[in-house]
Amino acid sequence: MQTVRHFFPDFNAWLDRLPDTRVQDACTYDRRFLAWWGLHLYLLQLGSRRQLDFELRDGGPQVLANLNRLAETAQTTLPVHDTLDHFVGHVQLAGWEQLRKRCAQRLLRMKALDAARLLGQPVLLLDATGLLCFRRRHCPQCLTQRHGNRTLYFHHVLEAKLLGPGGVVVSLGSEFIENADAADARGKSADEVKQDCELKAARRLLPRIKKDHPQLRFVLALDNLYACGTQFALAQELGWSFVVTFKEGRTPALWREYQALLPLCPENALARRWDGRVQEFRWVNQLAYRDSEGRAWHVNALECTERTADGAEHYFAWLTWLPVGRKTVEEIAQKGGRYRWKIENEGFNRQKNSGLNLEHVYTTDPENWKAYYLLLQIAFLLTQLLERGSLLRRLSAEAGRPLWKLFGSLKNVARRLLDSVRFVAWEEPWFDAHQAGLLRIELDSS
Ligand SMILES: [Zn+2]
Repeated sequence: MQTVRHFFPDFNAWLDRLPDTRVQDACTYDRRFLAWWGLHLYLLQLGSRRQLDFELRDGGPQVLANLNRLAETAQTTLPVHDTLDHFVGHVQLAGWEQLRKRCAQRLLRMKALDAARLLGQPVLLLDATGLLCFRRRHCPQCLTQRHGNRTLYFHHVLEAKLLGPGGVVVSLGSEFIENADAADARGKSADEVKQDCELKAARRLLPRIKKDHPQLRFVLALDNLYACGTQFALAQELGWSFVVTFKEGRTPALWREYQALLPLCPENALARRWDGRVQEFRWVNQLAYRDSEGRAWHVNALECTERTADGAEHYFAWLTWLPVGRKTVEEIAQKGGRYRWKIENEGFNRQKNSGLNLEHVYTTDPENWKAYYLLLQIAFLLTQLLERGSLLRRLSAEAGRPLWKLFGSLKNVARRLLDSVRFVAWEEPWFDAHQAGLLRIELDSS
């Protein structure tokens, strides 16, 4: 609770500004209370709305008092799960987007994420994933795919996440990839359609983020799909830079050019040894590239070959507009390139393979599921701040046990939180905003 009060002292005031929801059965509840109720679905990793009823409504003597304290409300009963569904839908996407934006802006103003900057610029990761899949058409916007004589209907999302220290990622924007994106799919392979959809979604998403955060000059951390003129043009338009995975298959001519020039600049090399590993960096600046629409570009290329103590070898390469040289190559490879993978793992994999249950259909209303998706993103941010913040580490230091011993695993943190909501009478001082403001909470950057 102190974590929320520390990072977001105005969180309850922000909840007050969620759009009005005069729904019949929801109007007896304060929106702060219902928003916290919804966030607990994910904070406690309950996995389904039914579980929210089961674990909280019917199973905890302290739940009502604790939630009231958290939301600063005086509700006398707990809501049933349809109430939450109505509420989540009526707030609409814009309301949840606004709340997410306020959280992100506050973290940026606190400079809580600055340690992860790349050459002084914030790193924005783009990452797409499948969310929902149905055997029957679920809404007019479903993407479709034929599998033999069966058609599957599904929804994808493209996420833009700001990179923070210690693997924390802050969702800045979500763009749902929908039917219209694949409208001219005729004659294209499934892979081409998928790429086309994602690039179109990026074209909608990124200018919106620019509008929300005009003062930030992002470095986009991108996968191989984005190594193309369409994306270079978009980055140029926005005044941003990028680090994109470089592979032979996506840009063969550029790859050949790079391989031809590498031996001609032997001075562009750097070796690092640590932890039994050897990393060798090499780079070539100002490669010329002409895209499929005839536009001319210059990009810098860098690579890292890593050999581990057991003899395994890994190779990575990227393209960028950032200046690559002896002083910058390592930082670009780490923060712009390697972290991306870590994040993919931390982000969607974790959201799918945990009680967050990203692919679960939290609502039967074909409109509401996007709002649940955003609610999950906001709750996941709070969870990360708790897990990666120094309060939890201090707690384990005080207990004289490492974090994993104290909780067994991060999954158990949610379990402990559930026990606490249900059975522990939360005390007033825990919610003192002034006290929380005095705390120093740092995000784990190890
Ligand atoms: Zn649908």
